[in-house]
Amino acid sequence: MDSISQDEISHVFGVEQVFLPDVSVIEWNNLDYLGWVHPSGSQAYVVLVSPETGRLAGGILNRTLRVSIRQRFEMCSWCHHVHRYNGTAMFTLSVKGTRGRHYIGKVLCKNLDCSLRIRNLIEPSSYMTETLYTEARVWRMQKSMHRWLKKAKRL
Ligand SMILES: [Zn+2]
Repeated sequence: MDSISQDEISHVFGVEQVFLPDVSVIEWNNLDYLGWVHPSGSQAYVVLVSPETGRLAGGILNRTLRVSIRQRFEMCSWCHHVHRYNGTAMFTLSVKGTRGRHYIGKVLCKNLDCSLRIRNLIEPSSYMTETLYTEARVWRMQKSMHRWLKKAKRL
C-alpha cells in the first residue's frame, strides 16, 4: 500500500481515540493493509484503502488472545497462515450504527502482520505450505477482509 501519515490515520477514526503507530519505521511496500496493536494488547486497529470509495477506511478491533498450553494449530482467516503456538487472537469489531450492540468476530494473526506472512518475511513459516503465488494470496486475503469490514459497514 502507499504510505500514509499519522494525520491521515487519525482522520480515518474521527473523534475516536486511537493509539497511533510510528509510521516512519513501516515498510509500506510489504503491506496490503496497516494493522497494529495498542500497547495494552486488548485493542487493535486496521486501516486500508476501501475498494468501494478508493479512500482510507478502518476499524477499531477488540483483541482477545487465546492462550493454550497444548499445541493447537490455528489458521488466520485473512492470510491462511497456520500457526503452531498461540499465534492467533480473536478480533471483534462493532457494526457501525448499532452503538456497540452488534459485534462480528474473526480469528486472525495476533499482531495483524498478515501481509508479511504472505510474503514469507516472518519466521516461522506456516505449518501448512501453500503453492499459491503471492498475488493470489493477497487477493484472497483482501477479499476476506473486505467482506468482513463491509459486513461491519466500515468500508
Ligand atoms: Zn494472518
